[in-house]
Amino acid sequence: MTANLSIITCDDHASACLRTPSPPLTRENWDLALETADKLLYVRNTVLKGGAGLAAPQIGINLPLFIYTPDRTTENLQVVINPKCEPIGEEKVVGYEACFSVPLRCTKIHRSAKVRVKYQNREGEFIEEELDGFAAKVFQHEMDHVRGSLTIDHETAEVMTFPDESSFKEYMKSVVQEDSKRY
Ligand SMILES: [Zn+2]
Repeated sequence: MTANLSIITCDDHASACLRTPSPPLTRENWDLALETADKLLYVRNTVLKGGAGLAAPQIGINLPLFIYTPDRTTENLQVVINPKCEPIGEEKVVGYEACFSVPLRCTKIHRSAKVRVKYQNREGEFIEEELDGFAAKVFQHEMDHVRGSLTIDHETAEVMTFPDESSFKEYMKSVVQEDSKRY
């Protein structure tokens, strides 16, 4: 596994990758899906050492694939391939989201409270689930990445920008605390 994998941010020259919708993965290029999933897990666990999710375009690979944890634990990280996501009902929740590809910014954003998702797992099996709470929020965030958009691109986005890493981290700590009370 190469160790030079890094995250592409919206401030980089290569940021076009973050705003290009990913074409579907087929049986013929499934090896590429598995390889990409392994890269994402490596970057999330070894380079970033955490995070609720990470999508292929964030490491420069335009494939509809991401990893995410529905419950904040590393043990339950899921590999999601060819995802589809639609809201269940009209209910929206407002939350604050950070993104590895949008450094030093926290975005206030409206998302569907409940979603119905369909995707394939590593084995290619089709999974259908209804998600709410934290899992729904993270799935929708990662879904945006494979559709080629970012938190800051949302119509309702209110973006807060921080001058440095320490003020950003301090703010995000309070966001995570608030979040864990709600979900
Ligand atoms: Zn993100």
